[in-house]
Amino acid sequence: NTDSSQSTKMSNDKLLDGLLSPGFDEKSCLSRYRSFLYRKASQHKPSPYLLSKLREYEDLHKRCGPHTRSYNETSKRLKSSHTRSTGGCNYIVWLGSNGMGNRIISMASAFLYALLANRVLLVDHGSDMAHLFCEPFPNTSWILPMDFPIKKQFHTLKQRHVRFRDISEESPPSFVYFNIPHGSYDFDELFLCDRSRALLKRVPWFILSSDQYFAPSFFLSPSFKQEVSKLFPEKETIFHQLGRYLFHPSNQVWGVITKFYQTNLAKTEQRIGLQIRVFNRKTSPFQVVMDQILSCMLKKKLLPEVDTQNSVRSPPNNSSKTILITSLYSDYFENMSAMYQSKPTVTGEVIRVCQPSHEEYQHKGDNLHNMKAWAEIYLLSLSDVLLTSAGSTFGYAAQGLGGLKPWILIRPKNKMVPDPACRRDKSMDPCFHYAPRYECKAKNITDSGTLVPYVRHCADRQTGVKLF
Ligand code: GDP
Repeated sequence: NTDSSQSTKMSNDKLLDGLLSPGFDEKSCLSRYRSFLYRKASQHKPSPYLLSKLREYEDLHKRCGPHTRSYNETSKRLKSSHTRSTGGCNYIVWLGSNGMGNRIISMASAFLYALLANRVLLVDHGSDMAHLFCEPFPNTSWILPMDFPIKKQFHTLKQRHVRFRDISEESPPSFVYFNIPHGSYDFDELFLCDRSRALLKRVPWFILSSDQYFAPSFFLSPSFKQEVSKLFPEKETIFHQLGRYLFHPSNQVWGVITKFYQTNLAKTEQRIGLQIRVFNRKTSPFQVVMDQILSCMLKKKLLPEVDTQNSVRSPPNNSSKTILITSLYSDYFENMSAMYQSKPTVTGEVIRVCQPSHEEYQHKGDNLHNMKAWAEIYLLSLSDVLLTSAGSTFGYAAQGLGGLKPWILIRPKNKMVPDPACRRDKSMDPCFHYAPRYECKAKNITDSGTLVPYVRHCADRQTGVKLF
């Protein structure tokens, strides 16, 4: 009957087609079961295999998570006097760096690795990432405990660069710490080469400091390729699925998101997300970027022109669009809202412009600043149409969560508006900025953007690759 089929649909929507497990306390994390009220249902269903793998992982995490017997036993191994203790669990500890976009996409990659390699993911969020996200796994925690035995050493370990060839096969260490420079072969070796994979299996603690989206690597790895394809038959949805599974704004951040949404975005027919990330104000001056944005939006018919001639005016109609700008600066917002306030549009549509914050610069180590960034990434992901800035992981996270293929604003060169001003991305998955280049068997360099049809160079970054 319709009532029961409607309530099944409601529960499917709420749990994102089975992606989310129903067993959480709703009040402790309002966003988890309410995201479906704000974001359109995804066009991409998670595979049944992914769903069963996630439920299996949740059991594993509960069994091996912080302060369980297994965790305590395995932690003892980090003290040299306990070389034999084993709790039967292996871990990957994720340490972040850089901005929120970088951190979000790299945490998702670390989780994918955990799924593939049967490791338990623990994250060190430190004080600047405190209270940003809810716990993603039921009845346990993913936060690395404060008293983790070698936590105090992270800082010194970061300065050292471990190489696989330095790790002893006879007596593998209890932990390895990788802080790998981008584009280094060690990074490629880590995920692509069988020898390093076999070696790593015998190391219970794998500590990884990364800010990259390295998920595409697994499609190039002989040992992971099959499994990852089975989990994600639609390859470009990896971050879309894992991101919506993992990243739920804390109640505090959810309050910011929903308040802004109700005030500015709820009553509009179309939400246009416009993410303006200026990496270099000198080569991309304000007026150039402004001209570029308008050129893209008008040419692609994302926005109507204003009626500068005051000629035949279309009668004002009730249809409205709202542009949500996210940027460190306020001048784009001021310019656009002045433009649409001063004159009617040729179509009679009403265009509104809003922007949640303008932080002026990236504040390092600032919890409140990171909260704003996370709230804005989430708000952008609720857009119907999205424009992002080339090469920005902030935009990648938003497009992936929203399941959107954005219009990419090409980065200006020599203070000129690029032609074309923007280009439609062909896939929603983030770009891995440092394409793997190392071929294990032949031990030589290869162009990983040409090996298989579904791993290709990114439209916004030629040196990177992404999944299609
Ligand atoms: P990327 O550098 O563009 O790849 O993105 P990241 O998110 O990794 O780093 C940029 C950081 O700068 C963000 O995390 C924020 O801290 C800050 N930032 C950049 N753009 C914005 C924005 O539009 N809004 C807010 N609130 N912060 C921003």
